[in-house]
Amino acid sequence: MQQKTKLLQAHSPKDIATAIALLKDGQIVAVPTETVYGLAADAKNPDAVRNIFVAKGRPASHPLIVHIASCAKIHEWADHISPLASILAKQFWPGPLTLLLHKKPTVNDVVTGGLPTIALRVPQHPLLLEILETLDTGLAAPSANQHKRLSPTTAQHVMDGLAGNIAAVLDGGPCSFGLESTIVDLTGSTPTILRPGPITQQMLEDTLGMVVLAPEHHTEHVAGNMVVHYQPRTQTVLMPLRALQEYLLAPENSTKKLAIMHYSSISLKATNVLFQVMPQDKAAYARAMYQVLHQLDKAGVEQILIETPPNNIAWRDVLDRLTKASAYDKR
Ligand code: AMP
Ligand code: MG
Repeated sequence: MQQKTKLLQAHSPKDIATAIALLKDGQIVAVPTETVYGLAADAKNPDAVRNIFVAKGRPASHPLIVHIASCAKIHEWADHISPLASILAKQFWPGPLTLLLHKKPTVNDVVTGGLPTIALRVPQHPLLLEILETLDTGLAAPSANQHKRLSPTTAQHVMDGLAGNIAAVLDGGPCSFGLESTIVDLTGSTPTILRPGPITQQMLEDTLGMVVLAPEHHTEHVAGNMVVHYQPRTQTVLMPLRALQEYLLAPENSTKKLAIMHYSSISLKATNVLFQVMPQDKAAYARAMYQVLHQLDKAGVEQILIETPPNNIAWRDVLDRLTKASAYDKR
């Protein structure tokens, strides 16, 4: 259903009250979080949650993360909570860590895509925490973008992708991490990372004092595992620096309009190429990544070439997103 999407401001108490009233009324509202903008609906209202899937064009079988106001609320949503989950919640909440737990039978199946598990997170963003406390419910909130597209890190990105499909966007400025949360499955005997994120495997292992698995491929049928995800509309290719330089020097590419996202220094100059230098610091790179990809996607180039980031634990989340952003898709 087409509607006029309101652009609300986080510094206006009146606008915050409007966002809260809309959410109470079962509408869907994009809200800032410290990871990326989330498309929020009352997780206890199945009709509202269904509208998230419709607005995003996301298959109903792909479960949503439920955001809660504090650790104390975990028992409203999950059962048989492993002691390891409690340790991680205590250490990393509020923050960019999502825990996958056994769901309580009372939690509706719409939010979990019919799965017996539930993904929970206490976000760090003060405004979202305020909203959660006022509403006294959980908010189901996947990233506020069209299914498989680039995640939004500003209110404008949300507007570009979803205006007309949702009730409102609450503009709280750019997201501080700029990358989706780490997801850890705590339903088995060994904690397993389902999606790498700002809380690294090393941080989890150090906190728990045990091995945490981080399989490259796992079998769960969930959106975070899709090969193609987080994609610009422009064809995007990931390549090491040397291959990138060779590509630029190849005569057949000399007239192509290209954009290059690189963090190593490149001495080449070319008028057909838009060079975008990225930070070498991982956190700064992550914060800028979606913003830059959105920008390059609008720049009218034929291809976006991305220098492969370092292949180590600290950069795993960035590498994961860029690999999916550049995976081949028949569009
Ligand atoms: P997104 O909403 O796009 O940030 O992605 C949320 C991801 O969390 C999903 O794609 C899954 O990987 C994971 N997830 C959320 N809820 C569940 C659940 N109930 N069971 C398993 N995985 C989940
Ligand atoms: Mg997403």
